Formats: sequence, structure tokens, C-alpha cells
Amino acid sequence: MSQDLVDLAARANAPTLPFAGLDTLWLQVTGTLCNIACRHCFITCGPKNDSHPMMAREHVLDTLDVARRLGVREYYFTGGEPFMHPHIFDLIDATLQQGPLSILTNGILITEDVAQRLGDLFRRGPYSLDLRVSLDGTTPEENDPIRGKNTFHQILAGGERLLRAGINPVWTVTTVHAAFDDRSEGYARFRSLLEARGFTRPRLKFIPPFLIGREARRSQGYAADDLLQEGDLFEGEEHVLQCGSCRTVTARGVYPCPILIEAQDARMGDHLEGALHPIRLDHPACATCHQEGFSCRT
Ligand code: SF4
Ligand code: SF4
Repeated sequence: MSQDLVDLAARANAPTLPFAGLDTLWLQVTGTLCNIACRHCFITCGPKNDSHPMMAREHVLDTLDVARRLGVREYYFTGGEPFMHPHIFDLIDATLQQGPLSILTNGILITEDVAQRLGDLFRRGPYSLDLRVSLDGTTPEENDPIRGKNTFHQILAGGERLLRAGINPVWTVTTVHAAFDDRSEGYARFRSLLEARGFTRPRLKFIPPFLIGREARRSQGYAADDLLQEGDLFEGEEHVLQCGSCRTVTARGVYPCPILIEAQDARMGDHLEGALHPIRLDHPACATCHQEGFSCRT
């Protein structure tokens, strides 16, 4: 049997995750457009990749309307880099009228002005606003080969502007370095870096690398037998895995999660209402979520 047929058979035996109800909505507001091109980006984002273009302002606002009717309780903006969107503050404002919002950013475009505007929204918005800033090492030597030249200092500077504006961001670390395999050691190193920069109560989230997109080229990707099989899930796992209660909307349609937007067979259609059903976890990246008990939530 050819390897392709073996893979198809393995995917056909993938488990189905029940759907617990739509609780969380991810909006891929800038699609795959990003101001940098990290070597571990699992959706191959960069300044020239518009395979998922920016969402039009009206598309985001219409989706928010639908989400409110469906009872969504929590929102996330991601990309790409959300602060490249020309209407980002309108979109933040509209979202905060109906629920808490977290924005995932690389921090580089957080100027003093952007930070102050976010600080205002943080203080006066009807719901909470959270920022997640990605940093992949405690030194330029660790971070910059992954995120790009000089990004370590630019990212930290963006986070510091947020702090001065009254927002203590969550620092997200993708554990691409063996140095962070020991989580408690990794947390301790980041805590001491951040405390030295004035973050007296550092917030950290460690994220496993997903071996797809650009990361597949860096790390050789998944092996054929990394797929989940029937019987692998535990009871109630839909309450642990993000895709048990979230959906992601991009300019190109609806997907189960932000991780699989480049997998065309993961696309669930054009409309959120048609995507509220169980899904088969038949992508190798699903094995990472399952093994790590991982959720993209903050
Ligand atoms: S990992 Fe984040 S910051 Fe880096 S290229 Fe991808 S979307 Fe942009
Ligand atoms: S990659 Fe993770 S979040 Fe996405 S569908 Fe698979 S298990 Fe769910």
C-alpha cells in the first residue's frame, strides 16, 4: 500500500470530538499578513502572504452580530499581526461592546500612541481587554534567529509601552528551544527577565510548537503515525481542547481553530451557523493539542 493510502486510512480512523457549544470566537482579522515572518510560524504568515487576506471591517462587524446572536462569550483577534489592520480600533471598540477580547500580537507595532489608546479602552471598555505578546527567548541570541533580527528589543519595548499605559500583557513563549523543555526553569528565566524590565507581576503562557506551516520546514514536520486514532480521546476532552467550543473566522471562511486555517480540508464553510457541529481530529497538529492538553485560550 502506498504511503498516501496509509495516511488516508489513518485519517479515516481519526476520533470525532463532540461540540460543547460555541463559547469563543477567533477572528483572523489580518489573515496571514504579518509585519515579520517567524521561522516557526505554523500558518506561514509574513509581509507578502495574503492567502488569507485581511477581513473587511464590514465582515468583522457582521460576524460580531452573528456571534452575539449565537451567544459567544469571549473573543480573540489574531493574524498575522492584528495591528496592521487599518480599522483595528473600530474593531476593538465594537467587540468590547459585546464581550471580553484578547489580542495576539508580536508587539512591534505597539507605539506609544497605540499603547495609550489601548490603555483607554482597557480602563473604560464595558468588557475586559487583554493583550498577548509573543517572545521566544530571554536573550536576542535565542529570540532573533526565530522571530527576526532586532525583534527581541522591539518586542520588549512594545510590551513596556503597554505596561506604562496600564496593561500587563501575557507573554507567550513557543517552546522551540530545548532550554525551555523544563517548564519551571523556563518560567524562572522569563520571570527574572521581565521583573528586571519592570513587570512586577509577569504573566506567561508557554505554547508547544505545531510542526506545520513554516515550522514544518524548520523541524521536519510530523511523522505519518502522529495522527490521533479512534479511542485516543478521553471523556470530556471537548471541554479541554479549544475546538470543542470555538470557531475561527477568516476572510476565506470558517475553520475549527486558528491552527488549521491553511489546511483547506479543515474549512467548514462560509457561515458560522453552519459550523457548529462535531469535527474529526484528523490532522497531525491535533495530536499536539491532545498530548499537551493545549488550548489557545489565555
Ligand atoms: S508567529 Fe505570529 S508574529 Fe510570527 S509570523 Fe506568525 S503571525 Fe507573525
Ligand atoms: S489543531 Fe487542535 S484546536 Fe485545531 S482542530 Fe486539531 S485539536 Fe482542535
